[in-house]
Amino acid sequence: MPEGPEVETIRRGLEASMVGQTVLSVNVLWEKSFLAPMDLITKIVAGARIVHLGRRAKVLIIELNNGYSLLFHLKMTGQLVLVKLDGERFAGGHPTQSMRDVLPDRSTKVIFGFESGDRLFFNDFRKFGWVKLVETDEIELDPLVARLGPEVLSAGFSLAFFQSQLDRHKRAPIKPVILDQSTVSGIGNIYADESLHLAKLHPQRLCGSLTAAEVRRLHVSIRDIIASGIEHGGTSFSSYVNALGGKGDYLEHARVFRREGQACPVHPDTMIGKFKVAGRGTHICPKCQRLA
Ligand SMILES: [Zn+2]
Repeated sequence: MPEGPEVETIRRGLEASMVGQTVLSVNVLWEKSFLAPMDLITKIVAGARIVHLGRRAKVLIIELNNGYSLLFHLKMTGQLVLVKLDGERFAGGHPTQSMRDVLPDRSTKVIFGFESGDRLFFNDFRKFGWVKLVETDEIELDPLVARLGPEVLSAGFSLAFFQSQLDRHKRAPIKPVILDQSTVSGIGNIYADESLHLAKLHPQRLCGSLTAAEVRRLHVSIRDIIASGIEHGGTSFSSYVNALGGKGDYLEHARVFRREGQACPVHPDTMIGKFKVAGRGTHICPKCQRLA
């Protein structure tokens, strides 16, 4: 499942080519992927111009000039592929052959045709992803969006706010609390492990046991790790198009995630270990991240 930085990378990649485009047609090949009545889709989306691309956590938002927006959630196997009239492609999401193949193919669920001749394909092999049509003023009321905390890199995720969230969960281990999207949105399993390693905190430390200095360190680490994820995501984005099955570049730079059995980047003599915290695979350096 893409995390906040991956969706932000897709947003940035599509933004330049899509803002200003007018939708000519919407072709829904799998009705359950588009959570809106068909007549409404045609009436509202066809003829509308795209004015902005936004994001809330893992939800990509395409804002139209008529007061409506399209919300995309890619889930496990969703991908967006913009095929320009001259054949150039921008693709993001779960990397598969479809990113390079002739489209539509078996995984294509929705096709947006633009006046320019460009086309946007929403492909989703396992069909867990979706597109929704909502009034732009009501995006924040959408059940999925309404429960989200502030974005990691927004002003809303201040140190004071973070401390107040940890205070609400004093007896809970830190990792599930920072993974909880109502605390802060956009941190998934990879970035949680990476942030905790950078902050030198064991994922099972209880929120209430953290000193002010440790909370400050974790706050800075989360922001740094997410910013670096977005930066490297930018690379993986183009590698999806150029290299078949190219995976996220960020993992090549990961500190601990999926590096069990390898040396800690800080302690060459210590091996990264893996265990479960709140049901999630968790990677730590036992020397950097001590429980007591
Ligand atoms: Zn270490």
